[in-house]
Amino acid sequence: MDLPIYMDGHATTRVDPRVVEAMLPFFSDHYGNAASRQHRFGWRARDAVSAARASVAKLIGAAAREVCFTSGATESNNLALKGVAEASRDRGNHIVTVETEHRAVLDPCARLAQQGLRISHLPVRADGLVTPASLEAALGPETVLVSIMLVNNEIGVVQPIRELAGVAHARRVPLHTDAAQAAGFVPVDVAAAGIDLLSLTAHKLYGPKGVGALFVRRGVAVAALMDGGGHEAGLRSGTLNVPAIVGFGRAADICREERAGEAVRLRRLRDRLWEKLHRSLPGVSVNGSMTARAPHNLNVSIAGVNGEQLLAGLSDAAVSSGAACTSSRRESSHVLRALGLDDALALASIRFGLGRFNTEAEVDHVAGAVCALVKQLRAPEPIFEVGDDDLPAAWR
Ligand SMILES: *Cc1c(COP(=O)(O)O)cnc(C)c1O
Repeated sequence: MDLPIYMDGHATTRVDPRVVEAMLPFFSDHYGNAASRQHRFGWRARDAVSAARASVAKLIGAAAREVCFTSGATESNNLALKGVAEASRDRGNHIVTVETEHRAVLDPCARLAQQGLRISHLPVRADGLVTPASLEAALGPETVLVSIMLVNNEIGVVQPIRELAGVAHARRVPLHTDAAQAAGFVPVDVAAAGIDLLSLTAHKLYGPKGVGALFVRRGVAVAALMDGGGHEAGLRSGTLNVPAIVGFGRAADICREERAGEAVRLRRLRDRLWEKLHRSLPGVSVNGSMTARAPHNLNVSIAGVNGEQLLAGLSDAAVSSGAACTSSRRESSHVLRALGLDDALALASIRFGLGRFNTEAEVDHVAGAVCALVKQLRAPEPIFEVGDDDLPAAWR
């Protein structure tokens, strides 16, 4: 077994070897610019991008023309939030989002607030879910967009997006969802769920970093952030990263074909990990709903241990904690605090993100390592009996 064992799939995933294989010819042989219309190098690149666009669209139940390639979910979120705000300036100046969103939603919203927009942050229940009633109460005549993530990147909870979209649509407000953590792991169907804008990133579903997409339903107005050659129907100018887009398409195809079976396997591994921790560690609790949850996520808090020592001691597993390291200070996660956890419990948390390449043996090893470490951290400090002879002469 290779150590440390990677279980940080919410941060990024390993690129599937099948994805790497699909990408390679687009560096060396088919290196054309997808915007070159005069020769076969360009045509080859353009055809590959079209195929990838169709693959990404199919993963989420969209039409290919509704998919705009970007550099990742951060950019897609910025484009959705700022682009819709700009395009609907004459209709209103209010956006509704949620306290537990990723920074890639919260920070663009903070920027818009500086520019005079009003932003409402919905609270979540103790299980991490937003209620349709709280969304209903926050909507007003000035609301131009609702942005609620599909799967949370820390606690893995799945928001009831179809109900929430229904509430928004009853007020003629479009709904955006950050689905970066969702698309590879839970079924996503923009038509069935009534989603108007949806952000994706390839590196959370076994594709390369630096490529993503924004789904924009036909008819939803979005202003571009990047002006230039008019690529992506004018919504996102800049020469397309063809190898990465090809990899994204291949990764989307693999997820579509294997997701359902893989979800069963991951849920079994996740439940096994939880069972083992729960059985041998008193004071361990799950953060977030265990039912409305993506199959690959486990987030636990361990009472009575120091969060810093916990993560420092867990050298066999690459996991992450409920802390954001802002410069040198450890700050507890805004997501866990929104659930009502105090600082100590939020800091003494571990996020496990299981993935396609994890095995049962790895789960068992990590569970054993966590249990052994927690027992060691909880053991009382040893007391040494110091005899006179052991003391330095000056102290006798
Ligand atoms: C990873 C992640 C992002 C950022 O995606 P990038 O492609 O790395 O910019 C945004 N939102 C969520 C929920 C994420 O998990």
